Amino acid sequence: MEDIDPPREVPGSATRIFQDLARLGLNSDGPVLYQSTRTRAYQSAIDKLLSEGKAFWCGCSRNDLPPSRIYPGTCRNGLAPGKRPRTVRLKVTGRTVAFSDLIQGVFEENLEHSVGDFIIRRADGLPAYQLAVVVDDAFQGITEVVRGSDLLESTARQIHLQHALGLPTPAYVHHPLAVGVDGRKLGKRFDSDPVGRLSATEAVSVALQFLGQEPPGGMELKELWSWAFRHWQAESIPRVESIAVELSSSPGRSANQL
Ligand SMILES: [Zn+2]
Repeated sequence: MEDIDPPREVPGSATRIFQDLARLGLNSDGPVLYQSTRTRAYQSAIDKLLSEGKAFWCGCSRNDLPPSRIYPGTCRNGLAPGKRPRTVRLKVTGRTVAFSDLIQGVFEENLEHSVGDFIIRRADGLPAYQLAVVVDDAFQGITEVVRGSDLLESTARQIHLQHALGLPTPAYVHHPLAVGVDGRKLGKRFDSDPVGRLSATEAVSVALQFLGQEPPGGMELKELWSWAFRHWQAESIPRVESIAVELSSSPGRSANQL
């Protein structure tokens, strides 16, 4: 549970996420790990990278960055004159980071060209998202990361961090995102939550159809999940980063009409 960003966190949202998942028949195999309990692990990873010279203190603020936002390496060899330590950045190299995504195919990124040395400890002292998830994935022995395609662009940074910390790289699967007809991500911007409007069985069925599966109608929730486990076809998932769906006022039956 990613709960280390108090300024951005909505109170009660963690509980609601677990309730929503339970309603859809999805329960955790074991106790849930909360990022808020992991501060010491994140700090020791940051300390290790600093002591090995793989990371450095940076005194630059957003205004010091060029319009491209790519970090030009200003504090790499020591803080710029007159600057105080503000964030910690991880050094990147010009070597291409490549991975093969089960859905999206081969993805390559040259971090020097795309982001430059990136922040692993924020100015407010909190660990950056990239650092926290990499440390937690290794701690929990995660072998397969399944998430939305909006996180494709984080993956190269996370793989670079895994290498720097000597941690294994899991397999990555980035599924298509459901977006509005305007191309924007579905989510909080809608007053009514499309999943909440459907029965649990309808919601799971629509999600399966969205992912290219063809569940037969007329099944109860438990039956539907059992069908999904037996008939799951990973190769039927559309190989795209997003799919536009129309939001209708009545419960939808098809994947492109929620
Ligand atoms: Zn700097």
